[in-house]
Amino acid sequence: MTVVGGGVAGMSAACALAEAGFAVTLVERRGYLGGRAGSYLHPGVGETIDNCQHVLFGCCTNLQGFYRRIGVAEKIHWTTDMTMIEPGGRRTRLGPFKLGPVGLPAPLHGALSFLTASAFTLADKLALARAMQAMMKQGALSNSSESLGDWLRSHGQTQGALNRFWRLVIASALNAEIDEIAVPYAAKVIRELFLNSARAGSMGMSTVPLSELYAGVAGYLEARGGKVLLNTHVEGAEWDEEISEWTVRTRQGELISEFVVVALPFEGMAKLIPNLPPADGATALAGQIARHEHWPICSVHLWFDQAVTDLEHAVLLDREIHWMYNQSLLQGRGTGEGQYIELVVSATRAFAALSREAAIAQALKELAEFFPLVKEAKLLKVALIKEVRATFGVPPGIDGARPGAVSPWPDLFLAGDWVQTGWPSTMESAARSGHLAAEALASQAGIPLSCFEPDLKPTGLMRLLA
Ligand SMILES: Cc1cc2nc3c(=O)[nH]c(=O)nc-3n(C[C@H](O)[C@H](O)[C@H](O)COP(=O)(O)OP(=O)(O)OC[C@H]3O[C@@H](n4cnc5c(N)ncnc54)[C@H](O)[C@@H]3O)c2cc1C
Repeated sequence: MTVVGGGVAGMSAACALAEAGFAVTLVERRGYLGGRAGSYLHPGVGETIDNCQHVLFGCCTNLQGFYRRIGVAEKIHWTTDMTMIEPGGRRTRLGPFKLGPVGLPAPLHGALSFLTASAFTLADKLALARAMQAMMKQGALSNSSESLGDWLRSHGQTQGALNRFWRLVIASALNAEIDEIAVPYAAKVIRELFLNSARAGSMGMSTVPLSELYAGVAGYLEARGGKVLLNTHVEGAEWDEEISEWTVRTRQGELISEFVVVALPFEGMAKLIPNLPPADGATALAGQIARHEHWPICSVHLWFDQAVTDLEHAVLLDREIHWMYNQSLLQGRGTGEGQYIELVVSATRAFAALSREAAIAQALKELAEFFPLVKEAKLLKVALIKEVRATFGVPPGIDGARPGAVSPWPDLFLAGDWVQTGWPSTMESAARSGHLAAEALASQAGIPLSCFEPDLKPTGLMRLLA
């Protein structure tokens, strides 16, 4: 069988199906696996870098299931602490309270650090507490058709809460402006990251470049009779009704296959539809895809001749750059006294529109406001990566534009972060879609397969609200 697309969705589907006994050919147009969550040798700086820092959370059960299947789960570094920094350097630590092994039960585990946070005024804290309470119950607001912006405006949020929490933490997790986010998605993020349990909200970051995480995928598939075909661009496919068989056309030749999983981003699927056989529902699927919209994410990779911060990562308040990741600490990168720092700007079309020089100058200027040592350090090299098609948005009504795994075509299944998973555009959504497609395919083939990982159960007092 054939899986088209070597991103997280395609890889998770392929590996789960291989484990169930299918001989899987995973087809990827690029020369490496990982898709949008990948790394490559950047010609400008001569370093292998992630196209952007990718963060996962404890609640990402299917992504972790995929990592466990290919044996790389221990390459993820986990932390429960988040540091917020104001321009000038004042720091706030958000995270669970612990006295030795004893912590407070969810949802109170993070309450103490939140109550003492200097980044928020008392009015901000009261507004945030009220909003979180309204979102606390499992499934709360799931039928709301409001945008997060409208909901926040009618729930008395202060400027501080809006700018330093909702716009920065939540909008950047969902990578869109608050008026372009459906309330149910925001409520889900709030519950998973801050309320359900300390484990669900813990942050995970790869300790190796992303594509290195997937180095074992080819071997995993080969050991089970399959293979990975890189640099192989799929252009279309034909279905032979008589023998129930697909012929997948690539620029490099044809692949005969009983079953196909198409794990492309939505724009890739849109290009493929006209090159698939006519089918009832194909036009409706194209219509669903047309409702999706891209949001950009930019990252600025900076190599300094000396250390500029002791922090592993931080949220940067009140400026255009949002996140700082210290790749020297996280991935053991950079040599000697120097430091490799990555900055991430999400949910902002304005930064993505800046010229390279302007974007780098702004990033450096802002970074120095948080870490004054930047002014003393020498910048050795820099890479700016603008991913204009980083994620799809989750505005109100988007669920109607997210199809399930079963497609309009026989024995062809859909995966990709944009299909119906209930999750925003993330690696977890991609892994979920891969596992859902694998289960749907196996069921059609009459082979038992249960690879979908259930959600983490809420703990502490949150169990009472489940
Ligand atoms: C800059 C950036 C930052 C992000 N940050 C985070 C984060 O912190 N946390 C998080 O969870 N998510 C993050 N995301 C989102 C996450 O990367 C995606 O949601 C996820 O990787 C999507 O996986 P996918 O397999 O669905 O799609 P993709 O990764 O797009 O995979 C599709 C694959 O199909 C291949 N392909 C396309 N057309 C063809 C064809 N015709 N033939 C063969 N192959 C083809 C592509 O090359 C690609 O490898 C970020 C994304 C970006 C871009």
